[in-house]
Formats: sequence, C-alpha cells, structure tokens
Amino acid sequence: MSETETRDFIRQIIHDDLESGKHAEIVTRFPPEPNGYLHVGHVMSICLNFGVAAETGGRTYLRLDDTNPGKESKEYVDAIKRDVHWLGFDWEDRLTHASDYFGKLYESACRLIEMGCAYVDSLSADEIREYRGTLTEAGRNSPYRNRSVEENLDLFRRMRAGEFGDGEHVLRARIDMSSPNMNMRDPALYRIRHIPHQNAGDEWCIYPMYDFAHGLSDAYEHITHSLCTLEFEDHRPLYDWFLDQLKPEHRPRQIEFSRLNLAYAVTSKRKLNTLVEEGIVSGWDDPRMPTIAGMRRRGYPVAALREFVTRAGVTKKDKLIEMGMLENCIRETLGEQAERRMAVLRPLKVILTNYPENTVEMMSAMNHPARPELGTREMPFSRELWIEQDDFMEEAPRKFFRLRPGGEVRLRFGYIIRCDEVVKNAAGDVVELRCSYDPDTRSGTGSSNRKVKGTIHWVSCEHAVDASVRLYDRLFNEANPNAVDDIHSALNPKSLEVVDGKLEPALMELSAGQAVQFERLGYFCPDEKDDSAGARVINRIVTLRDSWAKLEKQAMQQQNQVV
Ligand code: ATP
Ligand code: MG
Repeated sequence: MSETETRDFIRQIIHDDLESGKHAEIVTRFPPEPNGYLHVGHVMSICLNFGVAAETGGRTYLRLDDTNPGKESKEYVDAIKRDVHWLGFDWEDRLTHASDYFGKLYESACRLIEMGCAYVDSLSADEIREYRGTLTEAGRNSPYRNRSVEENLDLFRRMRAGEFGDGEHVLRARIDMSSPNMNMRDPALYRIRHIPHQNAGDEWCIYPMYDFAHGLSDAYEHITHSLCTLEFEDHRPLYDWFLDQLKPEHRPRQIEFSRLNLAYAVTSKRKLNTLVEEGIVSGWDDPRMPTIAGMRRRGYPVAALREFVTRAGVTKKDKLIEMGMLENCIRETLGEQAERRMAVLRPLKVILTNYPENTVEMMSAMNHPARPELGTREMPFSRELWIEQDDFMEEAPRKFFRLRPGGEVRLRFGYIIRCDEVVKNAAGDVVELRCSYDPDTRSGTGSSNRKVKGTIHWVSCEHAVDASVRLYDRLFNEANPNAVDDIHSALNPKSLEVVDGKLEPALMELSAGQAVQFERLGYFCPDEKDDSAGARVINRIVTLRDSWAKLEKQAMQQQNQVV
C-alpha cells in the first residue's frame, strides 16, 4: 500500500497544510480534564495528537483542561502524566494547564464585554435554562441582556473580587438566542464558584467555561490542528466565533473524529467513577478497568495498545470496536515477546509409584518455541507432581487425548506416564492419581521413540511456588454497556475468579509487570501492587484463545447496525 492509501483524513489535512505552506510546523495538544483516569479512548486521542506531530517533526502540548475545580484533583493530574509517559510520549517542556491562562482569559472576557459581545446575566440557573428554549423553539433574551458596557464591566470585576455568591451572576456571550444551534444561544463564559483550584489555589472565585477556555488556550499555544471527538462538532461554530471576535495572533482549526468505543466496556469517566465509588472494582487501576492504569496493571503491553488504536483507525463514523480485536493485538505482541513457563492453576496430585524417592532430575525446557535465542531453563522433576484437574477425566470420550484411567500422556519436557489408579475422597472426588513413568521416554534423550497423542504441563510438588492467580474476564456481559440505563444489570458476575496455583520455580524470579505465557493457559504477569516475593499474586492478562469470539461477532453485527 502506498503512503497516501494509509493516511487517515486528519493526516491528509495535515499533509496538505504542510505542502501548501499554510503551516511550517504542526502543533497539537492532548487536553484531558483531570476529573478521572484516562481510558482506552484516550489512548486513541493521545496516539493521534502525539503521533501526527512526531511524524511531521512538530510539537505536542499536554494541556490539563482544568476549568472545573469541583471535580478535579492532583491524583488525577499525576495519573494522567504517568499514563501518557507510559504510552511512550513526551511533552518535554510543554505541560500546560487551562488555569495557566486564567489571567489572559479574564482579560479576553473583559474585551468581549467592551465590544458589546458579552454581558453579565443575573437570572437564576433555572431561569436561564427556561429562557434557552428547546431544539424546536427559539430562546428568549434575558432581561439583563442590554446592560451597558460600564455596568457589565463593573459587575464582572465585582464577580471576580468575590462580592457575590455562587450562581448570583454569570457572564454570557451575546450571540443569538434564536440560533438553531443551542450552543450559540448566549453560552455562559464565566461562573462564580467559591472553591479553591487544585492548581491555581484560591486566587480565583470565578472560572471560565470549557468552550471559552479551550479555543483561546489553543490560540495562545499556537496549536495548528485542534483534534477532538465528534460531540464537539456542534461547538465548532462557537469555537470559531470566539476567534472571530477576539482575533488572536494565531488561529487554530478544530477538526473532529469519532470516539473509540470498546465493546463490553464503558468509556465514560462518569461511569468508570461509579464503578470505583460503589466498590464494584477495586479502584481506577483494577485490572478489569479499560483505564490505562488498569490495562498497565493487567499486563497489556504498550506496543499492543498502540497497534490496536492504529487498527481501529481515525474516522468520522461512530462505531463499537470488538474487545476481541484488542485482545488479539495483545496475543500477537505477547506471543512473540513472552517467554514460556509452566504453572498449574487447578492442581491434581500425581504420584509416580515407580520413580525413586528423594530423586530430582533437571529437565531442560525451551523458553520460546520459535525463538531459540531466548534459551532454555531447568525444571525440577520428581516423584510427586501437580497436573491440571482438567487434564484428567475418569469417563473420557474417545477424542480426549489427555489422561484417563489406564491411559498414557506425555509430560512436556518430561516422560510418558500411565495412570494406574485413581484415588478418591469420601465425597467421591478425585484427589490423587497413582501413575507409573516409562524411564525410556525422557524428552530429548529418551531411547524409545514411543509416541502418545496428548502432552500436558506439570509442576514438581516439592519445588512448586504457591501463587494466588487472578483470572480476569470481561467486566460486562453486554456488548454495549454504554447503551444500558443501569450498568449494574450489565455486569458480568464472573469477571474475577481467584485460584491457588502452583508455579514452576523459575517463576520465583519474575518481576512485577513482566509477562510470560503459562503454557496452554494464557499470558500472565505479577500484579504491580499486590505481588511480593514472599506471596506471588499473578494476573491473567489474556487467554490463549478467544472464548467470546462467536458471541461477540453476533452482538457486534447487531450493534453496528444500530449505531
Ligand atoms: P469522558 O467522556 O470519558 O469523560 P472526556 O471527553 O470528557 O471523556 P477529556 O478528558 O475531556 O475526556 O478528553 C480529553 C481528550 O480525549 C479530548 O480531546 C477528547 O475528545 C478525547 N477523548 C475522550 N474520549 C475519547 C474516546 N472514547 N475516543 C477518542 N478520543 C477521546
Ligand atoms: Mg470532556
């Protein structure tokens, strides 16, 4: 494919603007509001904003859009910075805040008043809503709309000086109360909030509205392309109106693209906050959360996330992307990177009755089947082993190639064993298998080239490392939980299962966040918070196969027809 064919519509615009000489350098910004943790949708916006600048030798600002102090906090600011860095992007000295510009924004508001383009309104919030009209009905002018410039300036200064209580007055743009675009019906520019600001301290008791602050901040930073999601399309006339009135030295251009929505996940900070507040998850970084912090803790590799948003693509059409697509990116990345290890998650004891007691043999195991350069490790083999409960069946169907009474199986990197006796407890559950091994079948060196159909994994009991293994699944059962009124009804009750696993001793060395494949089971890594050398806590990143594939395909077909 040629370069042009792979260029999305935004990269095409940027390419054209550079080629025509409209801009010599591309400047973008990623402008999160620090009112929650970043999620998978933000990964898309981060990769786009930092990506297009990096590709063209341009620059990107990380701008904290902190105009709403009631909902913002330093914790969120720190999390945002960490997440953007973790994704591999660097804002260098371009970390800014809308609050850095509060002084300039205040002056711009005064200028709008002087130009007759803004006024102080003293209607209550309810009245303002009522005067605003509806989509089918024009709004009405506020009785305060024709205040003189002097009166407006005086009131606005006194608002800033703290002379009025919250909600007593607001500063509004004077545009058109009958505009078919509701955003143009004299939108608010400033409101009174007597609360301190996490960055600006208690310097201000009036705060600018997002629409007013955003476009002007873009202008102050000489942003060339202000990339945002489609819900801001109706705000673009207002974005341009501010620029038309105030004529800043630099004029940015707003371009909208569609949000990335992920199936079986919610990507709204408000809904994510509900999950945290109600204790449905353990925090913003719970490994089931589609937050960047959650995905990092789960063990998703950065390369896979970046590949995922590239495949999802930058478009104008809203759509729901399959979770399976994200998981496949993770499988592909880890399939290549992750070393193989053995672990048993639901242990069943096997005793090799003909194997000598107090003997340990070291078996050589390949670290990666396709990458010999990753070498081998030694696995202790002894008389008592753990195997997976699932790998034994008492009444097995014909095609079951694992262990059955009287049947044989190969222990990977070990010997062929035969099941001679099944031991049960009083309740009739199988608690132990008594087996015999064939000493001529040792992997790699065995003198016999006898073959059996099945190969299973195992861990030596004496050498096993105990671990608490968290098996994560999707948080929601519903393909589009965003569309469900009550998200509680869409929760997957089985999104987390914890089992006591047995790990091969080499897994003692694994460091937090380091991913490995447990052969035949999936990809796993130690939890970055709860794991310690003394008590291993392991997260399942993703299974080897997509057990949801069929269900998801059907649900997606229905969903994408309605979206
Ligand atoms: P939420 O609706 O989750 O609260 P938001 O849009 O309010 O998200 P911001 O912090 O304002 O969150 O977003 C910062 C930037 O990320 C904005 O430019 C926004 O357009 C973009 N963004 C937010 N959600 C998505 C998404 N799902 N897909 C792509 N970009 C997104
Ligand atoms: Mg927002």
